[in-house]
Amino acid sequence: MYYKSTRDSSLRIESSAAISRGISEEGGLFIPESIPAITMEELKSLSNMTYAQRAAAVFAKYLTDFAEAELVYCTENAYSEKNFETSNIAEIAHLFDGTYMLELWHGPTCAFKDMALQILPYFLTTSVKKLSLDCKIVILVATSGDTGKAALEGFKDVPGTQIMVFYPEEGVSDMQKRQMVTQEGKNVTVCAVKGNFDDCQSGVKAIFTNNDVIKTLENGGMRFSSANSINWGRLVPQVVYYVSSYVTMASQGEIEWGEKINIVVPTGNFGNILAAYYAKMMGVPIAKLICASNVNKVLTDFIRTGIYDRNREFYATCSPSMDILISSNLERLLYLLSGENDAQIREWFTQLANEGRYEVSDDIKTSMKELFYGGYCDDAATKETIGSIYKTYGYTCDTHTAVAVKVYEDYKAETGDTTKTLIASTASPYKFSESVLSALDSSRVSGDEYAMVDTLSELSGITIPTALSELKTKERRFSGSIDKNNMKEFVLSELGLS
Ligand SMILES: *Cc1c(COP(=O)(O)O)cnc(C)c1O
Repeated sequence: MYYKSTRDSSLRIESSAAISRGISEEGGLFIPESIPAITMEELKSLSNMTYAQRAAAVFAKYLTDFAEAELVYCTENAYSEKNFETSNIAEIAHLFDGTYMLELWHGPTCAFKDMALQILPYFLTTSVKKLSLDCKIVILVATSGDTGKAALEGFKDVPGTQIMVFYPEEGVSDMQKRQMVTQEGKNVTVCAVKGNFDDCQSGVKAIFTNNDVIKTLENGGMRFSSANSINWGRLVPQVVYYVSSYVTMASQGEIEWGEKINIVVPTGNFGNILAAYYAKMMGVPIAKLICASNVNKVLTDFIRTGIYDRNREFYATCSPSMDILISSNLERLLYLLSGENDAQIREWFTQLANEGRYEVSDDIKTSMKELFYGGYCDDAATKETIGSIYKTYGYTCDTHTAVAVKVYEDYKAETGDTTKTLIASTASPYKFSESVLSALDSSRVSGDEYAMVDTLSELSGITIPTALSELKTKERRFSGSIDKNNMKEFVLSELGLS
């Protein structure tokens, strides 16, 4: 299986090269040349396997230049009880009739990003070895809060790598910030940017594709890669949990083999929901993909109108990991839906860069509507939903997951669709304690984030993850903050190259 670029269909590289480069030189995203199929028999054969074994089976279809032993090495190290609080790696909770929560936050940083970022360093170091690249890999990350910490945990002290994380100074929760600025490891840098997530992401993308910077790194024996979901090595691990959860639901009798389910995903960069789309196109019986946004509803509007328009006010919400106006991975979907028309993709994404807007063709508008339902909700509705699920079902969920639940309720009311549904639960409620607590009982909101974590634990009965409780005593290591226009200089100086 070769990989091409969404902006250059003639490119052919192997998955190890795609993973080690992160993004293609001309600014496109790497994408497999075809979507491999998984049959019902194959799905059934995964029933008695561990999560790591299921992952290796899925990866074997995409990362065909990796030897089986290499995939086993990567998956067994990443998906073990060393790193995850549950041997199932991802848990499925039955919320109410026909509705299930796919809990993707039992990893070391308590958000779903761990599902991919625990394995990416193994993919990357294996790729570098396979390609005999004698250089240090420099990982640049733009984060809306969760990716940064998950990447830092994944890459800390991994030989031959150095990682730098940029986060929007005012755009992350207290707990997220604290998780990052206390990060241990000799090869890590964390820096706040005066701007929002899109500024961080655009800054990082500009550095990656700046030829002068690339040359400077090359001369210094280094090379960039990305841990953001623009890297295929981030995306393919996310396909696994949709495959795996279907297998779990069917083998436990929650659904019949072959019965279609809906999937609801709280969405920002369109990575997680794109992974669900890949699972569907592989052959996992999936009906509707429900794309849930907060008030930064650029995707809801896009699904409904076919016009992508980022020229709008940016809101800081209580689901900060979805405060995004440029959803990078949409590029991969549009490439596929346009019949792999790289010229068309170049045109739209140049328009997006220059005018902040593009409009897709009628055919794509129709396919978008067939495949996806887009909805959004504001902070008040998010908190109401947290409160009502807690009261009705005794289940405590975080703000991002609540956006998904609310949009799913709206979808059901609008369509009457009773298909069984899996909702991606993307973070532990403890990561957003203040918002969750204010939704459960606003009279209990007081003290610092640790006091609130304790109160939340009292109300929810959920054990506090050690990864969060131990932050209390950790020293702050990073306090820098820079202008969004100085990211390049900062990177070069940190690497000792300026
Ligand atoms: C990153 C994140 C999202 C959004 O996921 P995308 O892949 O960017 O769409 C949703 N919820 C949480 C908690 C996240 O960390």
